[in-house]
Amino acid sequence: MTAAVAEEVGARRYETVIGIETHCELGTATKMFCACPTTFGAEPNTQVCPVCLGEPGSLPVANGRAVEFAARIGLALHCRIAERSQFHRKNYFYPDMPKNYQISQYDEPLCVGGWLDVDVEGELRRIGITRVHLEEDTGKSLHVGATGRIHGADYSLVDYNRAGIPLVEIVSEPDLRTADEARAYAEELRAVLVALGVSDAKLEEGSMRFDVNVSIRPVGHAEFGTKVELKNLNSLRSLHRAVAYEAERQRRVLAEGGKLTQETRHWDEGAGRTEPMRSKEFATDYRYFPEPDLVPIEATASWVDGLRAELPELPAEQRARLAEATGLPAKEVGWLVRDPEVLAYFQTVLGRGAGRDPKVVAGWVMGQLQHDLREFGHTMASSPVGPERLGELLDLLAAGTVSATAAKDVLAEMFNSEASPATIVERKGLAQISDTGELEAVVERVVAANPDLADKFRGGKRGVLGAMVGQVMRETRGRANPKLVSDLLERAIGG
Ligand code: ADP
Ligand code: ZN
Ligand code: MG
Repeated sequence: MTAAVAEEVGARRYETVIGIETHCELGTATKMFCACPTTFGAEPNTQVCPVCLGEPGSLPVANGRAVEFAARIGLALHCRIAERSQFHRKNYFYPDMPKNYQISQYDEPLCVGGWLDVDVEGELRRIGITRVHLEEDTGKSLHVGATGRIHGADYSLVDYNRAGIPLVEIVSEPDLRTADEARAYAEELRAVLVALGVSDAKLEEGSMRFDVNVSIRPVGHAEFGTKVELKNLNSLRSLHRAVAYEAERQRRVLAEGGKLTQETRHWDEGAGRTEPMRSKEFATDYRYFPEPDLVPIEATASWVDGLRAELPELPAEQRARLAEATGLPAKEVGWLVRDPEVLAYFQTVLGRGAGRDPKVVAGWVMGQLQHDLREFGHTMASSPVGPERLGELLDLLAAGTVSATAAKDVLAEMFNSEASPATIVERKGLAQISDTGELEAVVERVVAANPDLADKFRGGKRGVLGAMVGQVMRETRGRANPKLVSDLLERAIGG
């Protein structure tokens, strides 16, 4: 950037305008218009049939469960469920689309006009939801070659297992203003979808994907600027980086006297920049027309009311209730609510034992338990340590029967044994030593071995005590009561 350009950028204040189109695969057992299974990771082209391969003469039948899931999403996002909605054919040619048209919704989507409240650093922002509509996913192209992208590929393969999987598209209003807001919106939307149980919303498996539209305009202008659509954002991190980069790029283009063109750009995660997309350039005219093989969806008031009544508690409500009930800080509450399995586990531990401390339980469920699950190759669902047994362990900790250090050993052992924590403590001799007599000998040994530390302590450097407590803990294999050790050390050094 030249000095003059930099000055121009600084002088004109632009704001960023962002709207997000989110695609999410619905977690139904079968595809949108046929009975093929939707399991992820199957051998390519094994989950296909004449309907999802677009063979002539095959007829689609709408998946009722998918319609229900989409309506639930609409209701959770405060949308109106249209009394009548319609499937349309969106016509275009691309090899991952066997029918040469995608069944989607056009001017009569299932859900319209809602909003989602997003917490951005403690401030609530209400983001408008334009619509939620149903469609089907495409197949997956694999470009074989050095680049992994279509340009420069030697050849391409297509897997149609994904073709026809039910998809919702959730379109936001251009209400987002910063990269932080865009990420917070995506994160909250993901949490809502997971809480609704309609999708696993796994970004890394591509079951949730974002197309992000970015433009800039001078602050105070009502009119929107030319938008650029960003593709290939497969993590919250890349979404954030891409928006920040793109807004900055647009500012630079204008400052240098250039013009922005409406285009689709690809986010290059490695290079950390967006670049024009030359591939998959669709004709702008999709020649939408009503799908003649499917009847319109008619949503009766009683059906909608029934779905509304069955909506689960949503993340925002969960967070508010949990913060109120436990006194935990917002950040930890956010962590707990992010994963329904973690939340359920936490609540079971807390609910089954009187007087268990939410802070301690949250710390163990989110900390050491997660660590051990990874270590032993388990998930929350397959954890051999259920909430009952973890609760028992935490009771031993609270009663002073084991130290925190020893409790970690006990937890690890619980992954390999069905024994109760109390039995493991006894079997492994991990009970906390709270007996003064037993500890005094060790304390004296440690003081004698560290005359320099003892001197420093007497000289007012009280921090050195920690190192000596640590030594006693090591000598007792983590079994000593740290509070008692600390008292004994002070007495031994001081006396
Ligand atoms: P298109 O017809 O190109 O698909 P839409 O009007 O359907 O455009 O909007 C698609 C997405 O782009 C929506 O999420 C919308 O909020 C967003 N959007 C529209 N105009 C702008 C703009 N000027 N800047 C940023 N986002 C925008
Ligand atoms: Zn099929
Ligand atoms: Mg659009």
